[in-house]
Amino acid sequence: MRQITHWINGKRYDGIAERSGDVFDPAIGEIAAQVGFADHKVVDEAVSAARAAFEEWRTSSLSRRTSVLFSFRDLVDSHRDEIAAAITAEHGKVLADAGGEVQRGLEVVEFACGIPSALKGGYSADVSTRVDAYSMRQPVGVAAIISPFNFPAMVPMWFFPVAIACGNAVVLKPSEKDPSASMILADLWAQAGLPEGVFNVVHGDKVAVDGLLTHPGVDAVSFVGSTPIARYVYETAAANGKRVQALGGAKNHMVVLPDADIDGAADAAVSAGFGSAGERCMAISVVVAVGDAADPLVAGISERMSDLKVGDGRRGCDMGPLVTREHRDRVAAYIDAGAAAGATIAVDGRGVQPDGDADGFWLGPTLLDNVTPEMTVYTDEIFGPVLSVVRVPSYDEALALVNATPYGNGSAIFTSDGGAARRYCDEVEAGMVGVNVPIPVPMAYYSFGGWKQSLFGDTHAHGEHGVHFYTRTKAVTARWPQRSTGEINLHFPQSK
Ligand code: NAD
Repeated sequence: MRQITHWINGKRYDGIAERSGDVFDPAIGEIAAQVGFADHKVVDEAVSAARAAFEEWRTSSLSRRTSVLFSFRDLVDSHRDEIAAAITAEHGKVLADAGGEVQRGLEVVEFACGIPSALKGGYSADVSTRVDAYSMRQPVGVAAIISPFNFPAMVPMWFFPVAIACGNAVVLKPSEKDPSASMILADLWAQAGLPEGVFNVVHGDKVAVDGLLTHPGVDAVSFVGSTPIARYVYETAAANGKRVQALGGAKNHMVVLPDADIDGAADAAVSAGFGSAGERCMAISVVVAVGDAADPLVAGISERMSDLKVGDGRRGCDMGPLVTREHRDRVAAYIDAGAAAGATIAVDGRGVQPDGDADGFWLGPTLLDNVTPEMTVYTDEIFGPVLSVVRVPSYDEALALVNATPYGNGSAIFTSDGGAARRYCDEVEAGMVGVNVPIPVPMAYYSFGGWKQSLFGDTHAHGEHGVHFYTRTKAVTARWPQRSTGEINLHFPQSK
């Protein structure tokens, strides 16, 4: 059985883990590897390695840092197929989708290659007589990154390129369900010439996470996962004096007005609802059909769903399995509950015939019509290939519905009315908004993050927010007198 272990101080950890977890191949339904879980001693080793490496890395020149980043960028680019294959084997998403995930992560590395511009401070000459003032951005220290199963390469890459480019050291705790991508990335950092200890990986569960959240050597925590754990991480890390950003769950709504291009909206709903089997934080899980849009939209979505090929992600299918058997069963139970509560099952994925092993964690794309806001299929984040349609009579009711949800990650409006779209962008309570774009994931040079219970903290990921999160500002006021004035003044400083 393949064993996956930690990456500490530039090499694979050779200790024996007391606890470990099974890593499945979801398309086959079998255990493919075992991953060792870190205890507090292992976490301490990783944090200590990061602390020691930070002292040198923080003073390395911007040219040195960017040279390592450019090499890392080229290595990720040339190993994208290997990384994608590792993702598909443990997560289940189809190969093309896994490749897309690597590409989006790579774009953050490219953003981080330009870090010298982002780290420029301000300078004011002569703020007072012969006194100059300037500001600078300095790294915060050791950053812990804790990531979810659904993007095992992209989500860590939202954070660590920027953290490292800013001069920090990193300890990554990836999801224990698909840990291999992070090990390939660790090896590529070493090949790129990153000094030992600047990038470390510890695997594990709550024990490893708690070790990081409470460790005095960790200065900042970036977390992505479900809302209850995001809240816990935010509160625990903050109580331990750390800077923290914790991105949580989502329930993304797509509003379709009657004047929308209904064919385009149906294409978008199918792509955004069932890509990666709905296991995306920016997946569309609710279509809000306004007025006359509803009937043709449900017909268009249903028709397109019948063409989707479900199966092993290595066989050119459209949609792969779910990540674990438990998760597959949990998602299927939501379909049962929706039907029992009165939703209409327009397309039922429960009996899907996949192009793959019979023991895989299969569930076909499912469309539920006439869903109402009190049903659990509507209130809960399902995180699977289940798309709900809620019918409302007007734009105002659509907006009220969207804004009443506790999440605020992404949202989209489909319309040909520029005024309505502009109004929606202004009024909707979500961090990322699409106009005729179903998955409005910002580019690397903007910042990714939701509102309300989709994010605890003040800063979003990558872009300008990422640089702010991983740096502290310092304002310097300096006087270089031409000769000593011998002046003593006990008053509060004022300009003159
Ligand atoms: P999860 O919350 O179960 O796990 C996330 C991380 O937290 C993992 O590394 C896991 O090991 C750790 N963890 C789990 N339970 C813990 C506990 N009790 N204490 C401490 N740590 C714990 O999430 P998941 O199932 O891996 O990922 C899916 C979730 O992530 C969904 O809710 C999805 O919406 C969310 N997500 C959000 C975003 C975003 O940008 N907002 C992006 C991707 C995924």
